Amino acid sequence: MDFELPTDDDPRRLAVRAWLAEHPAPTGRQLAEAGYVAPHWPRPWGLDADPIHQLVIDDELARAKVSRPSNQIGIGWAGPTIVHAGTEAQKERYLFPLLAGEEIWCQLFSEPGSGSDLAGLTTRAVRDGDEWVVNGQKIWTSGAQFSQLGILIARTDPDAPKHQGISYFICPMDLPGIEVRPITEMTGGQTFNEVFFTDVRIPAENLVGEVNRGWGLAKVTLGNERVSLSGGGALWGMGPAARDLLDAVRRAGGCADPLLRQRLAQLHIEAEVLRLIRLRTLTARIRGEQPGPEASIRKILADEHGQRIMELAKDLSGAAGLLTGDAGPGVTNGMWHYGYLFARALTIGGGTGEVQRNIIAERSLGLPHDIDVEQGKTWREARSAS
Ligand SMILES: Cc1cc2nc3c(=O)[nH]c(=O)nc-3n(C[C@H](O)[C@H](O)[C@H](O)COP(=O)(O)OP(=O)(O)OC[C@H]3O[C@@H](n4cnc5c(N)ncnc54)[C@H](O)[C@@H]3O)c2cc1C
Repeated sequence: MDFELPTDDDPRRLAVRAWLAEHPAPTGRQLAEAGYVAPHWPRPWGLDADPIHQLVIDDELARAKVSRPSNQIGIGWAGPTIVHAGTEAQKERYLFPLLAGEEIWCQLFSEPGSGSDLAGLTTRAVRDGDEWVVNGQKIWTSGAQFSQLGILIARTDPDAPKHQGISYFICPMDLPGIEVRPITEMTGGQTFNEVFFTDVRIPAENLVGEVNRGWGLAKVTLGNERVSLSGGGALWGMGPAARDLLDAVRRAGGCADPLLRQRLAQLHIEAEVLRLIRLRTLTARIRGEQPGPEASIRKILADEHGQRIMELAKDLSGAAGLLTGDAGPGVTNGMWHYGYLFARALTIGGGTGEVQRNIIAERSLGLPHDIDVEQGKTWREARSAS
């Protein structure tokens, strides 16, 4: 890490403090209109903030204990895509409500037959006058049951090569013909859903970008990622982290078992390595360099680290770890139990661990592709045929 945060009298800090003095308990709408929800977006939705400016705003909001609206898919995916490729009318209609957390978004991408191989999706959208008629099924749609809007990718040209016949739509979730069925997970919660489309009519003006060019848009956000100093918890930024487990062990009087102590030390080392990778990425961004394969490396390390934290929390509790609720002695309580069950999802969602390893192998190490995606052949078959 070779950067320092601006000093206390930096004008960018003073500007945030002056605004917070006028808005001591800001609403989501006020934060959005001030550009503080996604400061790296262009004006008027953001502040065109460079990485240091973003960190200053984060720092000042955290100091004032002000939280941003939570709308992960909306702010992380839908918004940047609309900023990048949306019409003026779409920007006007959707961006501020999304930033303010007034309209929650979900992501209608994965299907029963296409997750890692997302471009193999079969949900169809057929143009009919001023509408697109959508039929098909999505699955694993987080938050669909309480979302007002969704980003939907569907096949609009079944004869084109599979990456070239997909279009990107904004889908109001209350349209007739949409059926949302929550899936009960092993945590007992219902965070994701199956979503069925039967002759759903989406207005033509809800197409984002050009027809059949949706695949490129589905990958838009990467260059637009917000920078952050905080890695957050082990469950994709939520929940407890390694330091929380170490604190809990200290509070419980320490740990005498040498093998468990070794695993605790290992977790501390991993957390430190992840922190340094994050700072290296941040330094690169501040220098204006494009992130390399670190994102895939960090995801693999962080996801497996998260699983190890939750497994150790259980093991530290001995037989009490078999219980699901608050249980002593040791560290297991409801939060760790939930984390233990949820942590299985870490190496699946957002690109599985195997797929991340493929990315590193192919893009970073220059190894051959495992599958010729256009022809459905393995690289060996593709090579011997050429
Ligand atoms: C908590 C959670 C939330 C999610 N939320 C959403 C959401 O809101 N919207 C949405 O659209 N999706 C969502 N997903 C779905 C997620 O994107 C998919 O689960 C993921 O892309 C994997 O696809 P799949 O489940 O179909 O598994 P598959 O792709 O069928 O993979 C099965 C197994 O095969 C392996 N595999 C597949 N291809 C290869 C390959 N080329 N080389 C080596 N191994 C391979 C995989 O690693 C995996 O182990 C969510 C998933 C989770 C866990």
